Amino acid sequence: MTESGAYDERTRQIQQALATVRARIEDACLRCGRDPREVTLIVVTKTWPAEDVARLYELGVRDVGENRDQEAAPKAAQVNHADLRWHFVGQLQSNKAASTARYAHVVHSVDRLSLVDALDRGAARANRVVDCLVQVSLDPPDRPGRGGADPDGALAIAEAIDSAPNLRLRGVMGVAPLDGDPYAAFVRLGGVAASVRAAHPEADIISAGMSDDMDEAIRAGATHLRVGSAILGSRPTLG
Ligand SMILES: *Cc1c(COP(=O)(O)O)cnc(C)c1O
Repeated sequence: MTESGAYDERTRQIQQALATVRARIEDACLRCGRDPREVTLIVVTKTWPAEDVARLYELGVRDVGENRDQEAAPKAAQVNHADLRWHFVGQLQSNKAASTARYAHVVHSVDRLSLVDALDRGAARANRVVDCLVQVSLDPPDRPGRGGADPDGALAIAEAIDSAPNLRLRGVMGVAPLDGDPYAAFVRLGGVAASVRAAHPEADIISAGMSDDMDEAIRAGATHLRVGSAILGSRPTLG
């Protein structure tokens, strides 16, 4: 999709930013004694065109993230490689679950029981098995913000995913609160992750950390980072 042969200017820009982010991940891992190979970088491509996803693939990226089904579905159809994994990271309406289940390899934002049913039915119809994470709210209880089940409800959602024939429980996801200490929030997420893992040892993913709080997430044990603007640039505010 990019000009054949030589990289275009945008590809070079993305390549450089990717290298910077990967170096940041390595540094953060070394500082807390973790192996960088334990950490998967998901590049969040929301608001950016399918051509950028193609560029990322060309640069070796195999995990990309989207947050709106209306945008993700056509992109996933356009950039279709057997080894490119699509992560759905945004709040998901139940009426979009069936569509999402057709292309998403991992849905990070399962935060209620009704969504488990909708995703399971969608996955069955698409003849697929979809990996799911329980999104845990890290916002103060009196200030709900960015979606997610409250920590006390996470285990019940995990159980429901585990019982759904067409879904596979893989772990938890969290978004740091807008104000407050991201590290403390990710440590709370790690606690919920441990209780889910105690019942379901294969649910070993902790999806945490974005461009501004990658280091804190790594220090708190994240296995998957969701990074957009640090690699692709700042989004137009509408996104
Ligand atoms: C947009 C988004 C990201 C990436 O955010 P950046 O700050 O651009 O790195 C990560 N996670 C979720 C849930 C998002 O919606």
